[in-house]
Amino acid sequence: MKPPILADRPVALVTGSTSGIGAAVARRLSRDGFAVVLHSRRSAEAGRALAAELGHAVYVQADLADDAERTRLVGEAQAAWGRLDVLVNNAGISGVIPHADLGAATAAVWQAMHEVNVVAPFRLVAEAEGALRAAAARGRPGCVVNISSHAGIRPKGASIPYAASKAALNHTTRLLALALAPEIRVNAVAPGLVDTPLTADWTQAHALWRERAPMRRGASPEDIAEIVAMLVSSSYLTGEIVLADGGLNLA
Ligand code: NAD
Repeated sequence: MKPPILADRPVALVTGSTSGIGAAVARRLSRDGFAVVLHSRRSAEAGRALAAELGHAVYVQADLADDAERTRLVGEAQAAWGRLDVLVNNAGISGVIPHADLGAATAAVWQAMHEVNVVAPFRLVAEAEGALRAAAARGRPGCVVNISSHAGIRPKGASIPYAASKAALNHTTRLLALALAPEIRVNAVAPGLVDTPLTADWTQAHALWRERAPMRRGASPEDIAEIVAMLVSSSYLTGEIVLADGGLNLA
């Protein structure tokens, strides 16, 4: 059934939002009064259940490694309520490869990381540009938040291809901020360790954050969602990469 037209409620598309950071961001933006377009690659059942739980939410399944699927996702997101105000590029892939094991970081690994972690966020912004500019015409700039990583800032992270993809995403964030201002703001959050399904068995990283990070713990998905909500609520910030590592970089 088609959802009702809600022209007075801003709409946010959050990619990869059936688990982890994306689900926390979707819940938070829903609580803040947004209609939410949920998305994932596979877990359609979880997506539909979360949409029913949140209300004013729809779920769209799409593989962001495929360019036609990216176009369809943004089209369906816009069609849901006839507007799109916020895009949170959260979906991403990782995987642990010891940095010194150069042979394991194959060309296929590099290409897959780049396609999902860099090309997909850029292409989604390109597809959503018209709708995000229309948000500015209604009185508030359109807003993009990319979920990057501290590994894109410091020479750290699960693998070299992953860290390099997030560094590219950070640079893309700044370039887009410059290219799309003042109608569209573009920022990123760069988390350190976050407790999500992706990092459930990263015992060494959890120990590192407990012992070395000034905040003595990794982030919860809700901690990161709060920072996304702060960036969304601003009318002025653009081109910022907010490092959210509990202060580990200082230690
Ligand atoms: P997660 O595994 O819970 O979420 C990843 C999401 O990305 C899933 O919903 C999945 O469906 C989606 N996704 C992956 N490949 C896709 C594809 N080809 N097409 C469509 N969707 C796809 O993990 P998470 O930890 O919540 O990660 C969310 C984001 O946060 C990622 O970009 C990740 O790199 C970043 N991040 C996570 C951490 C951490 O410690 N968990 C730290 C820094 C950055």
